[in-house]
Amino acid sequence: MNEYQVIVVGGGAAGMMAAGQAAKAGAKVLLLEKKERLGRKIAISGKGRCNLTNEENVTDFISHYPGNGRFLHGILRDFDNIALRAFFARYGVETKVERGGRVFPVSDDAEKVVEALNAFLEDKGVEVRSGTAVEEILVENGHVKGVRGAGQKQYLAPAVIVCTGGASYPATGSNGDGFRFARKLGHSVITPRPALVPLKTSEQWVKELQGLALRNVEATLWVDGKKKNAEFGEMLFTHFGVSGPIILTLSRQAGDMLRDGKQVELRINLKPALSVEQLDTRVQRDFQKYSNKQFKNALDDLLPQSMIPVMIHLSGINPDGVVHQISREERKLLVGLLQNLPMTITETLSIETAIVTAGGIDIKEINPKTMVSKRVEGLYWAGEVVDVDGITGGYNLQAAFSMGYRAGRSASDSVLSMV
Ligand SMILES: Cc1cc2nc3c(=O)[nH]c(=O)nc-3n(C[C@H](O)[C@H](O)[C@H](O)COP(=O)(O)OP(=O)(O)OC[C@H]3O[C@@H](n4cnc5c(N)ncnc54)[C@H](O)[C@@H]3O)c2cc1C
Repeated sequence: MNEYQVIVVGGGAAGMMAAGQAAKAGAKVLLLEKKERLGRKIAISGKGRCNLTNEENVTDFISHYPGNGRFLHGILRDFDNIALRAFFARYGVETKVERGGRVFPVSDDAEKVVEALNAFLEDKGVEVRSGTAVEEILVENGHVKGVRGAGQKQYLAPAVIVCTGGASYPATGSNGDGFRFARKLGHSVITPRPALVPLKTSEQWVKELQGLALRNVEATLWVDGKKKNAEFGEMLFTHFGVSGPIILTLSRQAGDMLRDGKQVELRINLKPALSVEQLDTRVQRDFQKYSNKQFKNALDDLLPQSMIPVMIHLSGINPDGVVHQISREERKLLVGLLQNLPMTITETLSIETAIVTAGGIDIKEINPKTMVSKRVEGLYWAGEVVDVDGITGGYNLQAAFSMGYRAGRSASDSVLSMV
């Protein structure tokens, strides 16, 4: 005799949504979470403010998932950003829109999002067991029959939804367990790798710029000398290299190219709003203004203070030379550097430090209409454990919530139709 109709493994964004939706549709649901508290990753998301979705039209979402956006086509429509915001409003979390369409709780407090999801679980009567790690998914004759926790304790149900997340930020509980379950059950797992991750550079001068954030710059990825993607926005220098939104967005492709043995370079345009000619005119104007000063004192209007020594060093122009003695060639070189500051990317930081894991359960082995496995009957996958990943801007949480919604609904429909 089954104690439960649906068991959900993992109490993150996808799992909490899946469990609540399955219970709402009428199933008796058990949610098992390894950590003592649910939603630990949500609580640290968006720097503790939780960028839970994006405001843009959901039909435009797909292009923001470099990892299998098309798989999400119907899934996002089913439970879209409008539905998600309405859901949170019902549980007391009003939302607001910020730059780039990013949606945050009005309270700027990610804990409120977790509290709302906990209230949803309670409201719908989900039985929650936290501090309970699942060690194995139990399968008999090709059909899931439940899960096994520590000490051989078995929990039985005809439907199991696995929402164990990726392998990033393992301290939040997502340490790749779902990938191990999947391989054991005969699923293909596309190699998990870091996406949305800072990049290391070989240039040591980045250390001198540590902590410097640049706004309205353009970063372009060059692979084996060929221009690839470019991103406009904000970036940050760190003691090992570069980070910040536009770098994180480029990091997935950079990482894949490095793993393929390619040479990866990043070029920063510090003045992307100006053409080369316009920037040259602007530099000439500054040089006229400071014509009797030393070069090292002539860049104050053009660059943040901490960048000046670095740019002077890279330009090769004598810092103590008088500005009116700078040659045309030297000036052109400086203009080139301002619009093409080059950095050699050596590697990404580790998967543990990545905001998101790329790779995961092969989408070809999941029915997108239900999130059910094509390998094991009654087994569902949802969230970051699936081979889907998005860029920054609220796309990853929306994907996790939408997949969780669909898996929860389908699992309950399926078990209730058996009754
Ligand atoms: C620092 C940071 C900031 C982020 N900010 C944003 C943001 O602002 N906006 C956005 O869209 N995305 C953001 N993301 C990404 C987003 O948080 C994730 O993509 C999303 O939380 C994935 O949800 P999930 O439910 O699939 O997995 P998770 O949230 O990782 O949840 C998985 C759960 O499963 C549990 N679990 C794992 N194994 C077991 C097991 N064997 N037994 C029982 N339980 C288990 C874990 O403990 C965990 O609670 C951020 C990520 C990080 C790391």
